[in-house]
Amino acid sequence: MILTLGKKIVISVFFLIFSVFALAYTKPVDSSHEYKVIIIGAGSAGLGAAQYLYQHGVKDVLVIEARNRIGGRVWTINPWGTATDLGASWIMHANTNPLAKMTQTFGVNTVTTVYDSNNLVNKFSSFDLYDSNGKKISVPEMKSTLALMDKFNDEISHNKIHLEDNATMADAFTTFTKQENIQGKKLQIFNFIAKDMIESEAAADLNQISFSAVSSMHSNMTGKDLLPQGGYIRLFSEFVKNIEISLNNPVTEIDYDQQGVNIIAKKGAYHAQYAIVTLPLGVLKAGTVKFLPKLPKEKLASIKRLGMGFFNKVYLLFNKPFWNSDVEWISIMPNKEKPKEHYEILNLYKYFKQPILLFFSAGSFSEETENWTDKKIIDDVINKLKLIYGNDIPSPSAYLITRWGKDPYAQGSYSYPSIGSSMEDFKNLAAPIENKLFFAGEATSATDPSTVHGAFLSGTTAAKLVMQQLRAPL
Ligand SMILES: Cc1cc2nc3c(=O)[nH]c(=O)nc-3n(C[C@H](O)[C@H](O)[C@H](O)COP(=O)(O)OP(=O)(O)OC[C@H]3O[C@@H](n4cnc5c(N)ncnc54)[C@H](O)[C@@H]3O)c2cc1C
Repeated sequence: MILTLGKKIVISVFFLIFSVFALAYTKPVDSSHEYKVIIIGAGSAGLGAAQYLYQHGVKDVLVIEARNRIGGRVWTINPWGTATDLGASWIMHANTNPLAKMTQTFGVNTVTTVYDSNNLVNKFSSFDLYDSNGKKISVPEMKSTLALMDKFNDEISHNKIHLEDNATMADAFTTFTKQENIQGKKLQIFNFIAKDMIESEAAADLNQISFSAVSSMHSNMTGKDLLPQGGYIRLFSEFVKNIEISLNNPVTEIDYDQQGVNIIAKKGAYHAQYAIVTLPLGVLKAGTVKFLPKLPKEKLASIKRLGMGFFNKVYLLFNKPFWNSDVEWISIMPNKEKPKEHYEILNLYKYFKQPILLFFSAGSFSEETENWTDKKIIDDVINKLKLIYGNDIPSPSAYLITRWGKDPYAQGSYSYPSIGSSMEDFKNLAAPIENKLFFAGEATSATDPSTVHGAFLSGTTAAKLVMQQLRAPL
């Protein structure tokens, strides 16, 4: 829905109809046909699975997608003459990420950021941080805190911090700050950096995240993180041209009690020998898709235990930058009365020469803001900028706001290991049922959950398992 406010064009993302992909990929689907494989969901996992099957000669495949577009939590729109990504931004770990290789195949230019998911502390080397009164934290203050954060990370990776099974990441930081006797302003800065580093990655508060699960998570991915020019979706829109996708077709029932799998969706009933389910954890938690028979107890318990976090974006478009346009990140520490009001701001001017600031919020604060009006959100982020740059800053000419928790086909931003869960829960989510119902999606990756590549690779794994069945003697 496009609203007009005074002379400003305001686009409320939640209602924005982005129908280009609907035109490009919707094909009439024959409900009476028996497909070899049906894939539910055209996000990174579903498209990864479909591409793998296609490349390996399995052509009788249908992808059923609820939305009017492909990509799922990869969602690029182009409202201001420049691509804005409302879901994922970074192609992480360029050395080993198959999506990074695709950027070369499809001629998608990328920029390497200072933000580096292999070394989260790195981001603070290009970071203007202000205290809650708007006074800049000095370079020596930042450096001494970052040295402590390096020490904390080192202790985690060498298992030097021992806590009880149900301890949280907040407990780990408290233990460390006591051990190092970190106090006063240094403690405030340390706590800010700890929150900033971990909560965005997990989309959850430090006291919601399981310490033991995080310390046992090991990814083999390496390399720097990249921002794709022209938007993330370009990686997917190239290769889906050969794949049969039914858009605007939410699945309501998956019956695997029969021979093969019967699927009921808005546009009809479908039958396949095998199905790959890539429904987001939030959708599985909500139970809006019925499984017949019910999913096994172990899988249901893991769905319940794992957390679906909140991570949202606010884009502000200005006429020209009034901030330090060389720095990658800007942020202001929350005041004591509102300790959760934490935004980190990515300066997109640095890379794309567009006067755009991108605010991120995470965890329970992000969840809370989803219930705020657009006006309240915009007033809040502008007030933060005024604390830093003074009251005379210009008003933005347009904005974009995401509310992933309210999106019925995501019901949250991405999964995280909540208290009481372990990495086994991610594996339980991935476990196939009766070798005919297979599962993929970011929350099925025990090594790289909550990422686009984790989802993509889980789709490839599920496709390989299906192919083993297709090749197996009857
Ligand atoms: C704001 C934000 C920022 C992020 N930033 C990054 C980042 O920088 N880098 C990174 O690697 N990751 C990032 N992520 C995470 C990443 O986007 C996801 O982990 C990944 O895209 C998930 O892919 P998926 O295939 O598992 O799920 P999805 O992309 O959600 O795909 C599932 C598909 O299933 C469809 N579906 C749901 N219900 C039904 C139904 N009933 N019937 C049919 N279809 C249905 C959905 O519409 C969707 O298309 C971010 C996520 C968010 C929200």
